[in-house]
Amino acid sequence: MRRLPVGGQLETGVVSPAVIIIVVIPPEPLSDAIPPPGRKKVWRPASLTEESLEETTPSVAKLFAKAFSRGARPLRSSVAVPLAASAFYKPGNNTAPVTTLQQARSMHSKVVIIGSGPGGHTAAIYAARADLKPVLYEGFLALGIAAGGQLTTTDEVENFPGFKNIRGSTLMDQMREQSEACGTEIVSQTVGKVDLSKRPFQYWLHPMGDDDNLEEETHTADSIIIATGAKARRLDLAGEDKYWGNGVSACAVCDGSLPIFRQKPLVVIGGGDSAVEESVYLAKKASKVTVLVRRDQLRASKANARRLTTNPKIEVRYNTTAVLIKGEEKDRGLMQSLVIKNVKTGAEDEIPANGLFYAVGHEPATQLFKDQLNMDEDGYLITTPGTAETNMPGVFACGDVQDKKYRQAVTSAGSGCMAALEAEKWLSEQEGIDVPNGINGDGDYKQGKPEANGDVPEYRQNPLL
Ligand SMILES: Cc1cc2nc3c(=O)[nH]c(=O)nc-3n(C[C@H](O)[C@H](O)[C@H](O)COP(=O)(O)OP(=O)(O)OC[C@H]3O[C@@H](n4cnc5c(N)ncnc54)[C@H](O)[C@@H]3O)c2cc1C
Repeated sequence: MRRLPVGGQLETGVVSPAVIIIVVIPPEPLSDAIPPPGRKKVWRPASLTEESLEETTPSVAKLFAKAFSRGARPLRSSVAVPLAASAFYKPGNNTAPVTTLQQARSMHSKVVIIGSGPGGHTAAIYAARADLKPVLYEGFLALGIAAGGQLTTTDEVENFPGFKNIRGSTLMDQMREQSEACGTEIVSQTVGKVDLSKRPFQYWLHPMGDDDNLEEETHTADSIIIATGAKARRLDLAGEDKYWGNGVSACAVCDGSLPIFRQKPLVVIGGGDSAVEESVYLAKKASKVTVLVRRDQLRASKANARRLTTNPKIEVRYNTTAVLIKGEEKDRGLMQSLVIKNVKTGAEDEIPANGLFYAVGHEPATQLFKDQLNMDEDGYLITTPGTAETNMPGVFACGDVQDKKYRQAVTSAGSGCMAALEAEKWLSEQEGIDVPNGINGDGDYKQGKPEANGDVPEYRQNPLL
């Protein structure tokens, strides 16, 4: 049997492009021009000319005002929003100015990645290292989430291998840097429409800060990796924005182990299987968990319901909702109690609570693909088990958009790796296949046909693999 050093295969010298290792490779020139040192390259949407910049700025400002009033802390990412925003919000007055690198043009790519969470960036790192020259659309507050994804809404990540404790936005900064350093072209826009009915696949972008319209240019791609993620549903309770991240959370597995919750009274809202999972998980660390169920019974399976009702540390309150989150008044003050209401009697009560966890579902970002790709009853993309393949050859999905079970950064990253490797394989299989009006066919698209990928990716050269 092969003997590996402590630390496993990665200790053997050749480092594969896993996101847990930050491999900084000198950036390749990404296109026809290179930004001056210290300046970041930002894609300017085709619709945004020098003249329209003036007009666009106020609407972007409004967008940000709205976003920040909903949750200033969640959107405090040091890269995600600012990267997209700084170019337009304070043109010419920051380190990421608008450049004129890429004016209006239609673009064809071998691999397009939609979404910028851990799934999208991992896919980008792998695809870039396989010389597929991926283009990644990071979104401009798509779904109300900053580029960089859900992790930009949390201060502490303690379960991403390689980092004992890291701010979510810092982790996403580093993934973004790594993607770019490997050769990914990152575009700070939201993909507004896709047409998967013909090859190459077609897609259109929203003008920056304007999700009601589409740009005129049609862009094409041989393969698409969908990494648009999901969004945890919130309840818009009074006090929610103020204590988000300081007591209020939408992920018990992510946040439940933080010191502020240990041996403290916590509340979970929800009556389904996720609420049970989250409550049982939290009960191991909390002094008590109160579960608020709006109806007079649980929606969870019988077996799960029993786990909840028989746990001595868990109390279930039926016909009950939350009304107001209270806590310390100082800046970044912690949540301390919750006002709850019996929906039948109207009676209100204030209970001590240092944590409030929403388990009221997620919304996968799949609207773009409705009626084009197979989805389950909750709108999650369906992939062939053990793969990232959707029902459409050439379209792959990774991360939370296709995973309603684990929903973790590391599982998203893992599936992003799978998606890129599968896209690479699928593209090379298309070589020599004559697809009508498609990949190797004649006609308009001929110029964009995928080239043979002559380079063997580095991870395949590892003698241990
Ligand atoms: C508060 C909170 C704390 C968490 N803490 C942890 C933790 O500690 N550890 C952990 O492992 N996991 C944690 N998670 C879960 C983790 O964040 C997710 O599992 C992970 O981010 C999912 O990654 P993803 O790649 O699927 O995409 P997401 O992170 O969901 O990001 C998708 C991105 O794509 C963008 N996008 C969507 N549509 C488009 C479009 N049409 N065009 C362009 N861009 C688009 C979105 O705006 C978003 O930026 C937490 C989640 C939350 C909400």
